[in-house]
Amino acid sequence: MQVAQRIRQHGATVSFEFFPPKDDAGWETLFASIAELEPLRPSFVSVTYGAGGSTRERTHALVERLLRETTLTTMPHLTGVGHTRAEVDAMVDRYQTAGVRTVLALRGDARKDDSSACAGDFSFAVDLVRHLRNATPRKAETAIEIGVAGYPEGHPETPNTLKQMDHLKAKIDAGADFIVTQLFFDNRAFLDWRDRCELAGIRVPIIAGIMPVTTLAGLHRMAELAAGARFPASLLRAIDRAQGDAASVRRVGIHWATEQCRDLLDHKVHGLHFYTLNRSDATRQIFESLGIRDSTAIATSAPRQ
Ligand code: FAD
Repeated sequence: MQVAQRIRQHGATVSFEFFPPKDDAGWETLFASIAELEPLRPSFVSVTYGAGGSTRERTHALVERLLRETTLTTMPHLTGVGHTRAEVDAMVDRYQTAGVRTVLALRGDARKDDSSACAGDFSFAVDLVRHLRNATPRKAETAIEIGVAGYPEGHPETPNTLKQMDHLKAKIDAGADFIVTQLFFDNRAFLDWRDRCELAGIRVPIIAGIMPVTTLAGLHRMAELAAGARFPASLLRAIDRAQGDAASVRRVGIHWATEQCRDLLDHKVHGLHFYTLNRSDATRQIFESLGIRDSTAIATSAPRQ
């Protein structure tokens, strides 16, 4: 599967993100979710990677199990921080042998408690993209497709948004094929940023990251983990009105995400990427409310060129 090519030929993609579980119970939950999500026929699924290699074996194990036991096309995330070129080459080799054709190339964040995590051959994601593209040139039989991260509401390390756009463009110029965004709740911010990408000469497909708020604790975790994401007042007001009732908070969050998806599809988004947190219910409810049986219904709506 080639994500960018698929978008150009068939329309928007739908993808689901998973993380490698830590224990047996987590694996069971994840594979129960996958059994429920597979009939939604995602264009691909992705598997996160712990920066510095903290989930290396578990990420590999999950990717290989997905390829072996399901029909799902799988894209591993790969972070450069703390890794040498030789380590990256070995991981890519192993993935290619397993049948992987696409990776999401990220810098990752060095752990604050681990000073050795900074050592490595890749300072920024662009260095990893450049290395991957040199190792697997586009025309080579071994060519892999490369996705990179984008931040519609900005990345906290670069307050200058023009510089930030230059850094994103540098990843595309180094050989990236598409962009997956950080989660966001304000479509206007995404659409404005998408226009700015276009003005900067970025022509690759941009896939929108979607994550419904399902609990109050989850909302606070997102604020902690999702670099740059902002929470619109009207979403926070709706959550406030739920007065802490768990079921109402969940309904509000899923409704908000559903409306985001509907509006993004109307604006010819190239793809919707659901951060599932290894659960299936919220994503399935969004599909149901959008009135679509599976993602092929979205794929047939022609994307914006
Ligand atoms: P970069 O593109 O390198 O950017 C990082 C920062 O450096 C930005 O502020 C950028 O503007 C700046 N910058 C870039 N180039 C330069 C330069 N030449 N000079 C100065 N500044 C520069 N993390 C994980 O650990 N595992 C995952 O699986 C994972 N998956 C993710 C998936 C998505 C879709 C997204 C959006 C993020 C994911 N992350 C993951 C988080 C990501 O690793 C962090 O947000 C990290 O801080 C930045 O990674 P990046 O690839 O965007 O880095």
